[in-house]
Amino acid sequence: MSQSLATVAYLGAAILFILSLGGLSNPETSRRGNLFGMVGMALAVLATIFGPRVSAGGVAWIVVALVIGGGIGLYAAKVVKMTQMPELVALMHSLVGLAACLVGFASYVDTSIQLQGAEKVIHEVEIYVGILIGAVTFAGSLIAFGKLNGKIGGKPLLLPARHWLNLAALLLVVWLGRVFIHADTVGAGMLPLLVMTVIALAFGVHMVMAIGGADMPVVVSMLNSYSGWAAAATGFMLSNDLLIVTGALVGSSGAILSYIMCQAMNRNFISVIAGGFGSGAPAKKGGDAAAAEPQGEVTPISATETAELLREAKSVVIVPGYGMAVAQAQHTVNEITRTLRDKGVNVRFAIHPVAGRMPGHMNVLLAEARVPYDIVMEMDEVNEDFPETDVAMVIGANDIVNPAAQDDPASPIAGMPVLEVWKARQSIVMKRSMASGYAGVDNPLFYKENNRMLFGDAKKMLDEVLTALKA
Ligand code: NDP
Repeated sequence: MSQSLATVAYLGAAILFILSLGGLSNPETSRRGNLFGMVGMALAVLATIFGPRVSAGGVAWIVVALVIGGGIGLYAAKVVKMTQMPELVALMHSLVGLAACLVGFASYVDTSIQLQGAEKVIHEVEIYVGILIGAVTFAGSLIAFGKLNGKIGGKPLLLPARHWLNLAALLLVVWLGRVFIHADTVGAGMLPLLVMTVIALAFGVHMVMAIGGADMPVVVSMLNSYSGWAAAATGFMLSNDLLIVTGALVGSSGAILSYIMCQAMNRNFISVIAGGFGSGAPAKKGGDAAAAEPQGEVTPISATETAELLREAKSVVIVPGYGMAVAQAQHTVNEITRTLRDKGVNVRFAIHPVAGRMPGHMNVLLAEARVPYDIVMEMDEVNEDFPETDVAMVIGANDIVNPAAQDDPASPIAGMPVLEVWKARQSIVMKRSMASGYAGVDNPLFYKENNRMLFGDAKKMLDEVLTALKA
């Protein structure tokens, strides 16, 4: 394939990626968006393999790598449960970071690249920055993976003088960069490069370990953004325009998502970028203490009584959370919705931006169950409707409906906007026990007079509710 044909193919792929991102912004166009993305990626891969920069001998190696990587990807896609998706995404971000590091070291030792003067300096800066971003992304994403699948505890690790440690690391990285650029030989430059990589890895670990459970959504989207910048840095090292454009698209859309998540969590975007996450939750200990002390009596309810309340209601708001994903209850939720709507009940869904374990988690599940998009509301659209709601049904959600976020300034989730289900005439919380949610704090909603607890697995309970509704 000639250079100009490859360039045209790259341009086509870049346009398809932009259309893909545009499509993914709305549930109704998201399938088309995905399709654009897949076609764009296929075009990009083909144009790269058959492009002018890959020799005939190289194609064989690429095909072997494609078969191995594609096989692992296919296997993972088949066996990974929907609830494990957030961890999988974190793991994939780590691979982008690792790739940036490996490409950086390979470019540095590649003797076929003979550059002089300013060009050499620019190339070395690209290598240095690429490995730096890649190592932070790699280590940070691995820790995020551990935190999301519960192998690493949600408590923030707050080292003494951690901001000074970060500042010292930054200054050291800048100084090492200077030594690296001024090194005359590859041998001399390798030591500062390796030391910087170790510092960047340690920084990535420290950055994510310092984040409390409640702030994880911001971290997930930040790492998404970092992985984009790592890919863009790889593009610079390889002089691959498409990788630069694609990386910049992922990096900037991830940054916008982080900003939205910050707003949803009421965290300061600048302090997040500066690595100050977790500082917004100084009273973690207060939360733990609160979690240890039950705040009163709860009133249980049965599935049949729940069905009765729903049948009598004129307006119902359903709040799905992580527990709905665990129980895979979305299809039964849709059946109940259909049954109630057939009876003339006004049913809507209230989606909190950080519900579940990844951005858009609930929207994906509800779309999979074919819940009509026009009854799926964002938090801001629906919050003021709770006082006029007869029944607010909370399915496996906890932190996102916790009134302590508004009432208790010492709570780790203080200031986080929440769905105000307690303002409905009746709220029903469906969960298996009195256990706390991801942020590890007790929920005063459970003890409110107008709240009832429907204990049990969400799928099992909803099946019983559906049977009673249809009886
Ligand atoms: P939570 O984790 O706060 O609560 C989920 C609740 O579901 C638990 O209290 C659990 O209680 C219940 N549950 C679990 N399994 C079942 C089941 N099979 N049937 C019924 N109930 C079940 O989830 P939310 O969605 O309310 O809030 C999301 C939390 O996750 C927030 O703290 C957010 O910050 C965090 N987070 C979000 C990310 C995102 O991008 N969206 C990323 C990372 C973290 P029990 O065990 O008693 O059943």
